Amino acid sequence: MKSKVASFAVDHTTLDRGFYLRSTYTALGFYPLRSYDMRFRAPREKSYLSPEAIHTIEHLMAHFLREKLGNKVVSFAPMGCKTGFYLIVKGWTPMRKVMEAVADVCREHSSLRVSGEIPGLTVEQCGNPTFYNIEESNAALKEYGMWLDEILAQM
Ligand SMILES: [Zn+2]
Repeated sequence: MKSKVASFAVDHTTLDRGFYLRSTYTALGFYPLRSYDMRFRAPREKSYLSPEAIHTIEHLMAHFLREKLGNKVVSFAPMGCKTGFYLIVKGWTPMRKVMEAVADVCREHSSLRVSGEIPGLTVEQCGNPTFYNIEESNAALKEYGMWLDEILAQM
């Protein structure tokens, strides 16, 4: 079925792990916005992130990317298919700078030991604060961060 959703036009059977610029928008007729796909897993590998790990990474990235990029971060959200995340950033931020910020968060927050290191994981701040997986989040961030470092070294 034809659709106006940009990502539905991408052939997911050949899609690799990656950091993709998916769409650019203009908000309020002025602000350029860029939507990136942070694809942690190639869909064809059928090796999905667990919902608990996704929730953990969501909290870490939502908080620490804003420490790196400030209010340039508009939104960070998981993909329902559990292969990655969407990141929307104000468009005048260079893509390399965004990738470096993501790689930094991966490196700096992939050796967690206790849930207290996950920002916003309280009953006041989160809808399901006992739902997390530190071990899997550590492994997924390490893996994606190493991949990003390799790509950045070649850019
Ligand atoms: Zn939460």
